[in-house]
Amino acid sequence: MDNLVKYYDHNEFSFISMEKLEELEDEYYIQYSTFEDCYINKDTSAYGYCDNDLLTNDTIESENYIYCEDTEDYQPENYTVYLTDTDEYVSRDYDFQKCDECGDYFSSDYDMHYRDGNYYCDACWEDMEPVIYDYHKYEDGYYPRSLARESPLFMGFELEVDNVRGDCESLAASVLDGDMDGTLHCEEDCTVAFEFISQPCTLEYHKNQHYNDWFFSELDGKCQSHDAGTCGLHVHVNKSFFDDHGYNRLKTILFFFKEELFQFSRRQRWDYGYSDFNERIDKKDVTIQKAKNSKHYGHSTWFNENNSSTYEFRFFRGTLKYETFMASLELVHNICMVAMSSTDVITWDSLLDGDYCREYSNSRDIYCDNELNLSTLEEEDREYMKALEKSLKENVFINRNYVSIGEIVDDTIVFYCLYNDGDELKLRKQNYIDLSDLSENLEDHGYYRLCSRKELSNLLGGAF
Ligand SMILES: [Zn+2]
Repeated sequence: MDNLVKYYDHNEFSFISMEKLEELEDEYYIQYSTFEDCYINKDTSAYGYCDNDLLTNDTIESENYIYCEDTEDYQPENYTVYLTDTDEYVSRDYDFQKCDECGDYFSSDYDMHYRDGNYYCDACWEDMEPVIYDYHKYEDGYYPRSLARESPLFMGFELEVDNVRGDCESLAASVLDGDMDGTLHCEEDCTVAFEFISQPCTLEYHKNQHYNDWFFSELDGKCQSHDAGTCGLHVHVNKSFFDDHGYNRLKTILFFFKEELFQFSRRQRWDYGYSDFNERIDKKDVTIQKAKNSKHYGHSTWFNENNSSTYEFRFFRGTLKYETFMASLELVHNICMVAMSSTDVITWDSLLDGDYCREYSNSRDIYCDNELNLSTLEEEDREYMKALEKSLKENVFINRNYVSIGEIVDDTIVFYCLYNDGDELKLRKQNYIDLSDLSENLEDHGYYRLCSRKELSNLLGGAF
């Protein structure tokens, strides 16, 4: 009895003598399993390996051993994980990923979604609230942010991205995960993949965000902005920063340096659909009247005044380059600050202060020798208005069939026409011209000088 050994043959256990075993070994391939303390006939029975030791099929099935793709042998079930994406088992030592929501495991090749420190599988991600809001559906509000003692100029940007590699939601989430202050959010935009929108912040606050460390570094290689060709960088500034005088100066600066701004914008076309620079104006023809009165609204213009509380600089092409991005913010900041200053003479170079702006402008060979002399233009504007007022006061005009006189009331010219009421000559309001719509001379509006008021009065026997 002492020399009986455990033997596995045709998938069944039995005990046989050592002599018998040795006989069988001449005919069959029989191997000893340390784990089972059993001789296994590999020619007649099913078997497997676990860590270089043999297992009988009985043990594999009764004690739940599972075949693992990584170790290429059987492992105890509690030492295995099932990979949902490949439909395979691997050992616990394998490099796998886990969904923090459902707890399922995935191979290292699987693209997990990531948000707020957690990883998600496709199925769980589908069920989550989207990171990217629908267009204009962000409802948490905008709150101006500044560091201590700063100017009340706030700038909010919209940076559009496109050609996203992989999933937009994941990219947005991975960026926003690094946004410690909640400065950014994302919105859908029908013309591009989506856009990052910032809270209104002062320039210093934006700089202090160190966007390069988490925003642009995260986007790098995962999407396009400049290279997509379709993307823009829009900068909003608060209208409340400007008074009327500052607004006029702002518009004049923009008009005077239109060509330079176009070059700075990196746009390829002057009349690009989402940022039309409108008419080209010779620098010597820029007047305050023209500049302040050329108002454009909506998505197709380079400078949009349509929003209730912001002016929007729409001309920059999108960029994923931190230095270019900051140079753009600096330029907008500088233009606004100079507009609200009392500086008389403005040069292109005087708009380039900061850490990035001048270097960027120089790198693109943007130079301008012309000086914008605002006080001269303002003087000319005053004289122009004085002359207009004088002309209206002294003259009678003919407009279609009407004999008219005009006066300035607030910011409109009101025209009255003469008409006969019985025997009496009376005046009736006939037309308005908004001063902001006024072109250089009244003839462009159909008002031609007929004679002086005095002459008309004499003609009518002093009746007028
Ligand atoms: Zn999941």
